[in-house]
Amino acid sequence: MTEPTIFELSVKGRKNNYIKPEDGIGGDIEKMLGKENLREKPAGLPEMTENEVIRHFTRLSSKNHHIDKGFYPLGSCTMKYNPKVNEQVARFSGFSEIHPFQMTGTVQGALHLMYDLAEMLKEIAGMHAVSLQPAAGAQGEFCGLLMTRKYHIKKGNDKETVIIPDSAHGTNPASVTFAGYRPVQINSSADGIVSADELERVIDDKTAAIMLTNPNTLGLFESDIEKIYKICRKHDTLMYMDGANLNALLGIARPGDMGFDCVHFNLHKTFSTPHGGGGPGAGAVGVSERLEPFLPKPIIAKNEDEEYYLSYNRPDSIGQIHSFYGNFAVMVRAYAYILSNGSDGLREVAEAAIINANYLKEKLKDTYHLPFDRHCMHEFVLAGTNQKKKGVKTLEIAKRILDFGIHAPTIYFPLIVSEALMIEPTETENVQALDNFADILIQIDKEIDEKPEFVKESPHNTPVGRLDEVLAAKRGDVAYIE
Ligand SMILES: *Cc1c(COP(=O)(O)O)cnc(C)c1O
Repeated sequence: MTEPTIFELSVKGRKNNYIKPEDGIGGDIEKMLGKENLREKPAGLPEMTENEVIRHFTRLSSKNHHIDKGFYPLGSCTMKYNPKVNEQVARFSGFSEIHPFQMTGTVQGALHLMYDLAEMLKEIAGMHAVSLQPAAGAQGEFCGLLMTRKYHIKKGNDKETVIIPDSAHGTNPASVTFAGYRPVQINSSADGIVSADELERVIDDKTAAIMLTNPNTLGLFESDIEKIYKICRKHDTLMYMDGANLNALLGIARPGDMGFDCVHFNLHKTFSTPHGGGGPGAGAVGVSERLEPFLPKPIIAKNEDEEYYLSYNRPDSIGQIHSFYGNFAVMVRAYAYILSNGSDGLREVAEAAIINANYLKEKLKDTYHLPFDRHCMHEFVLAGTNQKKKGVKTLEIAKRILDFGIHAPTIYFPLIVSEALMIEPTETENVQALDNFADILIQIDKEIDEKPEFVKESPHNTPVGRLDEVLAAKRGDVAYIE
């Protein structure tokens, strides 16, 4: 069932006349803009009435799954509810109608907000300085690795590699490669974490950095972190923390105190700015004192008169990595989120995220295999191996979940767990939502015993059925061409 596009719904000459020229709106466009600035041909916009447009987009929005519609336990993505007050604040005209070319004297409020947000992130993560420029987690990683590179070059260190655990997010090795280093894998121990002993075996004087995710993608806290720090110091190896999901640490533990030199934050995960659908996001980076000179420029600074300005006088900076200062409207939302929670509230976020994940894990571990049966942080990883033995793959379980109006967990990741189901409920779900999800997963397991074909043919009641994912990736058709 394909929906017509807005262009196909267009009928020549169809429009509303809610506002007429005689209402005093409009005027002589040619006179206002100058003839040379007018288009030669009309823009080819669809011609529709307002109610057709509203119905079209409302219908489409309800076909997709989104956080305002239902539970979204997509592991490693922190699909928490996005408070609407953040949206209201981001629309204040003082934020939404300013221009990046304005003189800094006229946008002091915006600069103040960015300055404060960086200060808050510094405090939350225990870092020495923060840049808000990167547009995504992956770009934050890249930025951190460029700084790492400059640090070593400046010191005359001869470095070639970056150590990454086998449980890492795929962006980590990609960022390492782009920054001109070679990724070296370190295997997780039987406990699912990086052990100091294994690190001793892998590290050498060519190791520029180790990139850890803490809690790691299995949802486990890297408890050898102090020993790891000592080993890294011996080799002048920097410690990079992938802090995309900081939900379990807020107000409890700080990457800076663990010895990390660089951490990126996904404002679009931990700090509740909307994501999914491709952005915009923000992947702010925090650094230790020794990496501070290399931060992207400009940085937002304050002079003796308490005036904010953009400091470009940064001779060792890696340069600018985003146009202007980053995705400002995302920063406004994250700032509103942090302020409205306050420091006690942020700690409660972390505690509730951890409790929710452990609650679900305990409810499900008798039905689905739990490969690392330990206390988890904000998420946990199950394996659909029992179900696979009965002939139903994890992919099919994920498709069946969609029939219940719930987004599937992340599947087949991390790569070290076969048939992985990575579940992150987040703190914004209540106990009824968690119970409901557990009941559904247990019901699906029963269905696998009773009517496996039915599960394998799912989803049954989503707007579209099973899609050909290979064809969609290879022959993406995302533009309307007349
Ligand atoms: C989401 C995520 C990233 C990448 O963040 P993007 O904003 O999607 O680039 C990196 N690492 C981890 C652990 C993540 O969960």
